[in-house]
Amino acid sequence: MVIEPALIARWRAAAASSDAQSTIARLHDEIAAQVRAQRPLCVSSGRCCGFEAHGHRLYLTGLETAWTWARLACQPCVNDVEAAITAGTCPFLAGGCSVHGVRPPGCRIYFCDRDPAGWQSALAERCHQEVRSLHDRLDVPYRYAEWRSLLAAFAAAEAAS
Ligand code: SF4
Repeated sequence: MVIEPALIARWRAAAASSDAQSTIARLHDEIAAQVRAQRPLCVSSGRCCGFEAHGHRLYLTGLETAWTWARLACQPCVNDVEAAITAGTCPFLAGGCSVHGVRPPGCRIYFCDRDPAGWQSALAERCHQEVRSLHDRLDVPYRYAEWRSLLAAFAAAEAAS
């Protein structure tokens, strides 16, 4: 998928809006409350971020990526993202998650613990619909893509600016 720099600029502006900041903060609070209530088992923190080894992929929207991107202390360059793709991991995996406080909603919801009640899928779907509505309210195009492909596009746009 080609993601134009102009689209990234729109997501970044939208992510800085008060609506995006309050909505995403509220979703993070709701996810944290649900995780506290469900107490899923995490046997090896960070293992699920080794996407190839774990058989897992992280998908999210452009707006969510822009929210995290704006809060990174050190933004990855295209080479960093490509190295992670080659390694089959997330570029922020360094022992554990190196961007824990600003990780996307999908990272906050996913646990490899078995989910017999389906709470993770239900919560992920509800959060996704809220973020989708946020795109509509802020009048920014919606895209849903694999995390590293979005990061690569953001890094390329940053390098070109
Ligand atoms: S952002 Fe952090 S929690 Fe999410 S996949 Fe990357 S290393 Fe894992």
